[in-house]
Amino acid sequence: MDSAIDVASTDSLVEFVERHPRLFVLTGAGCSTESGIPDYRDAAGEWKRRPPITYQLFVGNEHARKRYWARSLVGFRRIQHAQPNTAHHSLASLEHSGRITQLVTQNVDGLHQAAGSQNVIDLHGRIDTVRCLNCDQRGARDQLQLELERLNPDFASLDAAHAPDGDADLDDVAFEAFDVPACDACGGLLKPDVVFFGEGVPGPRVQRAMAAIEHSDAMLVVGSSLMVYSGYRFATAAADAGKPIAAVNLGRTRADDLLTLKISDRCASALGVFLI
Ligand SMILES: [Zn+2]
Repeated sequence: MDSAIDVASTDSLVEFVERHPRLFVLTGAGCSTESGIPDYRDAAGEWKRRPPITYQLFVGNEHARKRYWARSLVGFRRIQHAQPNTAHHSLASLEHSGRITQLVTQNVDGLHQAAGSQNVIDLHGRIDTVRCLNCDQRGARDQLQLELERLNPDFASLDAAHAPDGDADLDDVAFEAFDVPACDACGGLLKPDVVFFGEGVPGPRVQRAMAAIEHSDAMLVVGSSLMVYSGYRFATAAADAGKPIAAVNLGRTRADDLLTLKISDRCASALGVFLI
């Protein structure tokens, strides 16, 4: 594809949506930036900051786990109070008009559902849920947040720059003092019910999404650089199935070579035209 696709206008996006009545939609962090949840990557698709904790480190290293929860105690507040923006509302409108066969999101913030989208696959899980790695009991993160604040009053009063997964920059604090509650049913390790780096997306979620591509006319990527394989694979699957792909994203995507249409714009301003 030549670079002319980069200057495509909202009109061409409207035309793309009209031409393909059954859309498979994949959304990423760029969809939620205007809800106050910062993105991880810059316009070149590179890390803006230190990459997030891996599953292996979280499970295998107590200090890293304390550090994660201390930072998350502060960073979660922004996600807790975030509201859906025009991008989320526009996608909910498209779904209500019967134009979306499946929405798959790489975000863990739950804002698509808050905007009214119903057919959503949370590819990487949900930050508002906590799971015990031993007995699989699930609980509300809101409850754990209260417990974390009660056990760690010195940390609860801190503030820091926020990151997309409810993490925060708190590098100079002594994490050893941080008290992390265990599962109240079995004493096991609690983990946010999100897919960490180094952890696989559960197979059934991927299979449901792949099946939805088969029943779609085209794919629409919204606010994702597709740098992570868990999202990129859907673009290659759509391309292999001969489905055209449009993307709304500020900056480069890993699938630029596969795109039929590229809108380099903020998600809310590009999608606002579909808001009913
Ligand atoms: Zn348990």
